[in-house]
Amino acid sequence: MTATIEPDVASSDEPQPTFDSFNPATGDVVGTHPIDGREQVEAAVAAAREATGWWQGLGFEGRKEYLLQWRSVLTRRLHQVADQVHREGGKPHGDALLEAGLAIDHIAWAAKHAPKVLGRKKVASGLLMTNQAASVEYQPLGVVGVIGPWNYPVFTPIGSIAYALAAGNTVVFKPSEYTPGVGRLLVDTFTEVVHGRPVLNLVTGLGETGSALCTADVDKIAFTGSSATGKKVMAACAENLTPVVIEAGGKDSMIIDEDADLASAAEAALWGGLSNAGQTCIGTERVYVHERVFDPFMAELLRQAEGLRPGYDDGGVYGPSTMPKQLDVIRSHIEDAIARGGRPVLGGADAVGERFVQPTILTHVPEDSLAVTEETFGPTLVVNPVKDMDEAVELTNATKYGLAGAVFGKKHAMDIASRIRSGMTSVNSVIAFAAVPGLPFGGVGDSGFGRIHGPDGLREFTYPKAITRQRMKPVIMLQSMARDEKTESRFAQLLTVLHGGTGTLPKRR
Ligand code: NAD
Repeated sequence: MTATIEPDVASSDEPQPTFDSFNPATGDVVGTHPIDGREQVEAAVAAAREATGWWQGLGFEGRKEYLLQWRSVLTRRLHQVADQVHREGGKPHGDALLEAGLAIDHIAWAAKHAPKVLGRKKVASGLLMTNQAASVEYQPLGVVGVIGPWNYPVFTPIGSIAYALAAGNTVVFKPSEYTPGVGRLLVDTFTEVVHGRPVLNLVTGLGETGSALCTADVDKIAFTGSSATGKKVMAACAENLTPVVIEAGGKDSMIIDEDADLASAAEAALWGGLSNAGQTCIGTERVYVHERVFDPFMAELLRQAEGLRPGYDDGGVYGPSTMPKQLDVIRSHIEDAIARGGRPVLGGADAVGERFVQPTILTHVPEDSLAVTEETFGPTLVVNPVKDMDEAVELTNATKYGLAGAVFGKKHAMDIASRIRSGMTSVNSVIAFAAVPGLPFGGVGDSGFGRIHGPDGLREFTYPKAITRQRMKPVIMLQSMARDEKTESRFAQLLTVLHGGTGTLPKRR
């Protein structure tokens, strides 16, 4: 029996309904959490709103101190955090540790860089406005609602939470119903650090709780999850013109050129495809290999895949599928690929068990198969040969998604990376960009829009505030009811000097 998340219906003497989170490897209940309805969500947003005054009043330096303190608390409790992720999400303890560690690095980066990125900066005022001193600063939006997924229940929401907090916002966080205990741990540790002030607040529940957050009095929603839910979030937010950042799904490819180090590429393809049971938004789902090195690459890939297996024990390199209903999706993608002529060289339709999916590698899969067009979110790889790198780029870009990807090669690798229509690409590694805190993280197309991480991720949770300060009276006074024709003609003369050019057209190219 696999456990599915069902609300417990409240009886009359039970004020609030609850739901359980389960260990996906065993089906055991890990924790019981309230299903927060509109009333509780609005109360959380109101509490967060109340706390904005204190939090913003601390300024960048004050907030930095608290955020760095939170970072240290999480670091000291790293094993506790990793254990909670391991039990609710099913991933190996070591993977959970890595995830939490990278998130901690992001908290530190956001806290330390917020003053420089968001603080007041001079802007050149231009020749027409030399009498003005111009500056821009980035103001916090107010209360940010963060809706998170279960596959990286620490790293993913912290990408929004830490950056929103560092920018001066307070936050209401709605973790996935599959990992509410992880969400609680994150919020409790932060609340401890700020002596109980409701700066980072938790609401728990199923989709309806997230939906209520979208239409509560929030100033922005940072959503991470599937593209289908992202569309619902946007629609709900449209009601109040609430801005959104959408971090949605992907169908990332790895491109392997003929001059690539094949052993490294195979190692990366296996890790990018199988780790976390393939439940990584920026995981490798498709591999396009130059036909000249396809056979040696496949031999190396299968050699390295030998003996890899899932499990909840120490020998399992990845865990179960966290969401039981995903097993049907994975099976249907494998079956569809095989029915259309794809060749299973490892695993296959039988690889999908009751909780775990064995590693599956399919080759020569037609490009219109579900395993190529839709997010599989399982430990599967589609590996197809291509005649050259132009074809690899064309096929990579022939997707509605555009999240990330990887390129292995030497001479043309950087050029190929720039030609991929996606938010992020790693050359000669996978997923490396996610661990560089200064880089923006996000996608295009059905993978969403807006950015977390880096300076863009800080600015995402602010609005730019432009200020001009008149330093002296202007030489030509334009903003006056007393402006005369002479002034206008002097303005026109100045404009001609500045922008009149030569009057000749650019040469035809
Ligand atoms: P999901 O869309 O099912 O749920 C995400 C969150 O949205 C959950 O907290 C859920 O309760 C909430 N939700 C559900 N219905 C809602 C509604 N109508 N209004 C508001 N909130 C609602 O996604 P998931 O299964 O938790 O996560 C897996 C997906 O997330 C995959 O597609 C994966 O690619 C994607 N993902 C993307 C990124 C990224 O950064 N781009 C990172 C991790 C995961």
